[in-house]
Amino acid sequence: MEYQGKQFFASFGIPVSPGRAVQTVDDAVAAADELGYPVVVKAQVHVGGRGKAGGVKLATNTAEAREHAEFILGLDIKGHIVRTLWIEKASDIAEEYYASFTLDRSAKKHLGMLSAQGGVEIESVAETDPDAIAKIWIDPVDGLTDEAARAWVTAAKLNPLATDGAVSILTKLYRAYVDGDADLTEINPLILKAPAESGEVHALDAKVTLDNNAQFRHEWDEYEATQVRDDREQAAHDADLQYVGLEGYVGIIANGAGLAMSTLDVVNQVGGEAANFLDVGGGADAKKFVSALTIIDNDPRVKSIFINIFGGITRGEEVANGIITALGQIDIKSPIVIRLDGTNADEGRAILEPHLGDKLQMQPTMLDAARTAVELAGGTVK
Ligand code: GDP
Ligand code: MN
Repeated sequence: MEYQGKQFFASFGIPVSPGRAVQTVDDAVAAADELGYPVVVKAQVHVGGRGKAGGVKLATNTAEAREHAEFILGLDIKGHIVRTLWIEKASDIAEEYYASFTLDRSAKKHLGMLSAQGGVEIESVAETDPDAIAKIWIDPVDGLTDEAARAWVTAAKLNPLATDGAVSILTKLYRAYVDGDADLTEINPLILKAPAESGEVHALDAKVTLDNNAQFRHEWDEYEATQVRDDREQAAHDADLQYVGLEGYVGIIANGAGLAMSTLDVVNQVGGEAANFLDVGGGADAKKFVSALTIIDNDPRVKSIFINIFGGITRGEEVANGIITALGQIDIKSPIVIRLDGTNADEGRAILEPHLGDKLQMQPTMLDAARTAVELAGGTVK
């Protein structure tokens, strides 16, 4: 979240405002009183556009700090409920800019983007005024030189008073991106403080995505702190499941990532939409099915559940027993369809057979099961 991103930035010497992360109204007020007014009360959620959604508010005294904290805590911002606030010393803004680094895979180079039009979504700038974004491609071997950074800042047409500050902060942002093993480091808005003559450039927001593959190089807590997950993904992560939340209505459980992906394709092919990707992995632990089924069934999007299992090292009857044990322990709202194939599939099916009914069905093939899942969800089968 923002405050964790700011801690990450601060560790690379990027100037950010002092602040406190809090979870209650009383703590928010105490933090605001301690920091001194004016402060900004900011919702901490894993989505942007908080300002527009009423999740960023300026308080000039204790009463306002309390009022804003009460309003923002519990607020729903694009499906994310606010449970943490960041109380930050307010800055006087002369100008708002945008800056980021990401990887341009096709160019095999790092891509820096800088714009004098900050504080708004960069996608909309890219649409309405693409020339307002100055891009720089950086060879990972050469890195970002001071001259290149200076030319880039000039090309972006920032206020000349901001040039030195911007070069310094962009150099540090690049270090944070490379040495911090990030996939993305973004500051929006990057501000020139008022009065502009101060030349002070400062990060007012922070977005960081770390590279999964570099996880081992970092403290786990530090890595965890900057992960972007919705509530479903967090629950799955806690249960040690490979899960990605999607927007459809058929909940998917498969064993193996490849099979899970094929399952999404087949559901799509018959005109349905998957609510998630979920790989329960090898083994047939009832506990894993309990977690997987619970996470999927708690997702309000889900209207039916498709369990797609191919027995391998874990045999069909073991998986069938795992599923039946799990279903005995929890109450699942959505109807379920199972397709079980592979090693000892017949034995597995025999175990499932006596439990079948309206709420638990079985189909012999992936395609049939996908059709049934879409039908059970009330969708139209192609
Ligand atoms: P986002 O909407 O989720 O991107 O949240 P931001 O942290 O970017 O804040 C949104 C907007 O609130 C910024 O673009 C600023 O215009 C404004 N804002 C945030 N912090 C301050 C501050 O300290 N002082 C002032 N004056 N405005 C701020
Ligand atoms: Mn922002």
